[in-house]
Amino acid sequence: MLKYIISKIKKIYPDPESEKAIMGSVVYCIHHKEGCQWSDELRKLKAHLNTCKHDAVLCAAQCGAMIPRVLMQDHLRYTCPRRRANCEHCHKEFSGSALEEHQGNCGHEPVYCENKCGAKVQRRHTQQHIQQHCSKRLVPCKHCGQSYTQDTVSAHGASCARAPVACPQRCGASGVPRADLAAHLRDHAAAAAAAALPCSFRDAGCRFKGTRQALEKHTEESCQQHLALVSALASRQARQLDSLRAAVARLSVNCSGALVWRISDWAAKMAEAKCKDGVELVSPAFYTSQYGYKLQASLFLNGNGAGEATHMSVYIKILPGEYDALLRWPFAHTVSFTLFDQSSSPDRACNIVESFVPDPTWKNFQRPSKEPDALGFGFPRFVSHEMLKKRNFIKDDVMFLRVKVDPSKIVAV
Ligand SMILES: [Zn+2]
Ligand SMILES: [Zn+2]
Ligand SMILES: [Zn+2]
Ligand SMILES: [Zn+2]
Ligand SMILES: [Zn+2]
Ligand SMILES: [Zn+2]
Ligand SMILES: [Zn+2]
Repeated sequence: MLKYIISKIKKIYPDPESEKAIMGSVVYCIHHKEGCQWSDELRKLKAHLNTCKHDAVLCAAQCGAMIPRVLMQDHLRYTCPRRRANCEHCHKEFSGSALEEHQGNCGHEPVYCENKCGAKVQRRHTQQHIQQHCSKRLVPCKHCGQSYTQDTVSAHGASCARAPVACPQRCGASGVPRADLAAHLRDHAAAAAAAALPCSFRDAGCRFKGTRQALEKHTEESCQQHLALVSALASRQARQLDSLRAAVARLSVNCSGALVWRISDWAAKMAEAKCKDGVELVSPAFYTSQYGYKLQASLFLNGNGAGEATHMSVYIKILPGEYDALLRWPFAHTVSFTLFDQSSSPDRACNIVESFVPDPTWKNFQRPSKEPDALGFGFPRFVSHEMLKKRNFIKDDVMFLRVKVDPSKIVAV
């Protein structure tokens, strides 16, 4: 460069004097623009350039490149193809060009996993990482066989339909798949229902059913409830009994207006009447009709009042009845008493009949109070003891007495 410049000057100024003058002129270093401050006579420039730090010289490592002195150290260290350098990852020594090729391939360089798991592993271990350790590698669910990334497979297991779960009934069945649990529990329910025993207080209203153990526990725990159920049942049954009794009484009551009274053990009863005062036999109560007067006959075998010791006396009593409020008072119906002659030939039989029409002024025929009068109305001298011995009024120690009420005009409403 310098030679070229000087030869140009020599052509322009062929005169040696003027060449001398030119060589003595003051110039700047040709690297003035790059920052060199040197300035002196032109003839000294050549010598300066031999040391100018901005002037390019051949690479000291003989790579062939021209490098400014000031950059030589950097060139030798970093860019010269003939430099020697160590790989920062594997620390092996390379020439510059070999290092450039080596970079990007070094097996020791940490690189991000290509599955984007976030892990950095040395390049030589990436295959092993992807196959064995990467959290994003696909693994099969051991229950259903479907593929999941390794970091989600356990979360999947918490909901995998084929993953085994423990039976909440603790039946001991091992590994019921989650999807089959509902059916499994239905089986339990069906079996339990089939084996369920009813509570022994079922008839009292307890609806419990269960296994033998459950039933034992229930029976132990439910004393109070069972007692209440039984008590309620007893009350219900008592009410039913009451209404049944009333129904039976209604059905068995005599509502015909006529009573045929059978007096058995006659001789013994007569003997008792003779040795005791006022022995009275009373008949079952009877009604003149379904809603009529309630009556009862009474009999003194040894007589009373005017017939005492000589006659058998009969009376009719009006008892307080359920329909008295609807009936006409005083009682005004004819009453007749018939003592049957039990003769074996009926056409020769001769019954004794007495009847009376009630006297409306007689207090016995007024509506009876709760405590009826001891004595009714009737015949103190119904039949004499002499007459009783005749005919067949007593046969087989039995006597029959009929009490009959004239059925007309009984009910007032
Ligand atoms: Zn210079
Ligand atoms: Zn070089
Ligand atoms: Zn390396
Ligand atoms: Zn990975
Ligand atoms: Zn699964
Ligand atoms: Zn089970
Ligand atoms: Zn029970």
